[in-house]
Amino acid sequence: MGELCGHLYVLFDDPILSASDERTRRFIADHEAFHIAAQMYGAKVPIVFVGDRPQIEAESRSFLRNLERVLNASSLVGVGDAYDSVCALLEKYHLHTSSAERQALSHWIFWEWPAEDYAFRMLRKNHHADIEDYLRIRTLLGDSEVYALGPIVGMALDQMVGQAVWQHRIQQGETMLDVLVGSCTSGRGNKEYPTIEMSRVTFEFVSLDARD
Ligand SMILES: [Zn+2]
Repeated sequence: MGELCGHLYVLFDDPILSASDERTRRFIADHEAFHIAAQMYGAKVPIVFVGDRPQIEAESRSFLRNLERVLNASSLVGVGDAYDSVCALLEKYHLHTSSAERQALSHWIFWEWPAEDYAFRMLRKNHHADIEDYLRIRTLLGDSEVYALGPIVGMALDQMVGQAVWQHRIQQGETMLDVLVGSCTSGRGNKEYPTIEMSRVTFEFVSLDARD
């Protein structure tokens, strides 16, 4: 992916992606465009993203699957009801994993969830797609258990703290999971829950509204 003559380009040679329909290719382009325009430009192409990406271990994948289940279940009754379950999952996850493993997961969450959330919003806006349409596309593209939580957590955060608030916080270097947990702790009488650490990255340019 990169920029040429004022346009952002995404090149891929994966046969599944190449053979996919226009809507799916557009989705991939929006996802990658977010990495370029919102994340890399502001951070001056961080090495942490372009270098070897850390492996997500089985315990982390299990945590993600449980988190998706809890958030999907909560959408039926209101996302606020997921607070206790999310906190319990996170506590259990921290008890059973090393900080290196948590850092690896944090890397993926930090870079991929906002890009995936943005691409989903574009899909919804331009193709009138709903979350089920999105999940079908993501299943086709693979690694759904890592990526699909981007839009799911994004919608939860919209309800819990509001879009402007959480997007501002990820611009300051927090992950979407940090914000989810932060909301959770503030609603539980300041009980201390462990959070995932992510080295702070300052973005000079990131705005879905493109006001400037
Ligand atoms: Zn990506």
